[in-house]
Amino acid sequence: MTETLFSKIINREIPADIVYEDDECLCFKDVNPQAPVHYLLIPKKPIDRLTSAMPDDQYMLGYLLLKAKQIMADAGHGDAFRLVINNGPGAGQTVFHLHIHMLAGRAMGWPPG
Ligand code: AMP
Repeated sequence: MTETLFSKIINREIPADIVYEDDECLCFKDVNPQAPVHYLLIPKKPIDRLTSAMPDDQYMLGYLLLKAKQIMADAGHGDAFRLVINNGPGAGQTVFHLHIHMLAGRAMGWPPG
């Protein structure tokens, strides 16, 4: 996979406001927040989008969801948050390293835009 903004953040080539990190994943604040809390959770494994995930990514994908739950709870938003994955340009994906948007701190409308 080619280098992306997010692989550069993992490698500390560009700065980010990091919220959480372990061997599997990195969580940092979105530079253009759409809610009072807007974090991005990414796997360290370079995978460009959800549709590129393979059966052996099952553990990593489950790990990210459970980690998102923990990070939101630690931020005081364990009861009300939204997770979003934009898959492909038609769905609004602009950075091609899989990421989960984690949004909280305001009322969320439905349907999403
Ligand atoms: P998406 O449109 O789903 O691909 O989301 C990409 C997200 O990355 C957007 O919400 C951007 O605001 C965010 N973003 C872009 N560059 C950075 C950066 N250097 N640090 C943190 N977030 C970023």
